[in-house]
Amino acid sequence: MDRLNWIEKQRQSGNFRQLTPVKRMPDGTLQLAGDTEKAVLHDFSSNDYLALSLHPDLIAASRKYLEMAGAGAGAARLMSGDLTVYHELEKKIAELKGQEAALLFGSGYLANCGIIPALLGRQDVVFCDRLNHASIYDGCRLSRARLVRFHHNDLNHLGDMLKSRRGKGEALIVVESIYSMDGDRSPLKELVSLKEKYGCLLMVDEAHATGLFGPNGGGVIEEEGLSSHVDLAMGTFGKALGSYGAYVAASGSMIDFLVNRARSFIYSTALPPAVVGASLAAIKIIQKQPELRQKLFAKVDLFKSILRQGGLDGLGSSQIVPVLIGESSTAVYLAEKLRRENIFATAVRPPTVPEGTARLRFSITLHHKNDVLKQTAATLLEILEKG
Ligand SMILES: *Cc1c(COP(=O)(O)O)cnc(C)c1O
Repeated sequence: MDRLNWIEKQRQSGNFRQLTPVKRMPDGTLQLAGDTEKAVLHDFSSNDYLALSLHPDLIAASRKYLEMAGAGAGAARLMSGDLTVYHELEKKIAELKGQEAALLFGSGYLANCGIIPALLGRQDVVFCDRLNHASIYDGCRLSRARLVRFHHNDLNHLGDMLKSRRGKGEALIVVESIYSMDGDRSPLKELVSLKEKYGCLLMVDEAHATGLFGPNGGGVIEEEGLSSHVDLAMGTFGKALGSYGAYVAASGSMIDFLVNRARSFIYSTALPPAVVGASLAAIKIIQKQPELRQKLFAKVDLFKSILRQGGLDGLGSSQIVPVLIGESSTAVYLAEKLRRENIFATAVRPPTVPEGTARLRFSITLHHKNDVLKQTAATLLEILEKG
């Protein structure tokens, strides 16, 4: 590949990406590194929905586990790195997700790349929602199973595909409960019926749901009372839980199986203990303080109601609010205009989303004060109107 030529093409199509070093302030606002005017940017790109990453309990627990167990695990879990702190966290996660057991991974990306190939091989088939996260697709590819993509949230299409392509091998249906770039939900109850009808495994990625939905913050699966019908409930600690790492919760035998087969688990150093301490503190908070979720969704409602009054629709059904633009270059231009108004929202472009569906993605967090949300919504409407 001619790399320079490739970069030039990306630039011309508005799809070239660059890193933007920032400083994060204790109130969750950002300053661009090297900005001598120190403009305060309101961060609408973060997944730190409950503002837990800066919570004193997480920081204190991190420190405690750091001093107790050291800066690094020193080895993979199946070698000598199997510190007791991981079991402590896995027990809490299994409880939270209503499953028998759980297993930690280095990150959500690593979890998805490890779990799917552990379950499936060449003889098998995976039914994958078109809008699933890249890490799910990468897991599917690594598995070498036949990949069947179904239209986003389209049960009829999935039903047809299951009928014609289920085959005789193992079959897995994999979805997200809240979609990361569209902010909408998957029809879990109906998916459970289909998976039972066709004898498939069902895996649900709750990256954007854990901590935010369900009476204990267990996610959409908990909210809908479906824990015992979902074979693999996966999620990350890096989003609403404010920390890092990831997990899958499942039956005891499934977890035993994954310990022996998931290569991204087996061949990778265990998480740093400080990170585990932070995750434990986060779980305690989400279980004990449902009011944080209520507060967040009141903010989401406020933001969306202003946008709706301004004529926008298709704003999703969660804390993730997509504003569809279309062309990448337009989305980049609008994001730049917002930046000048001290609003940091990313232009999400292909290949993260399908061609022609570039968008501005706003994620609402507890860092946002109500007047900031009102101002941001008004500014966005103004910029969309003027172009
Ligand atoms: C962010 C995300 C992941 C990856 O999780 P990390 O812990 O950030 O690696 C996986 N799946 C979905 C749906 C995500 O949004």
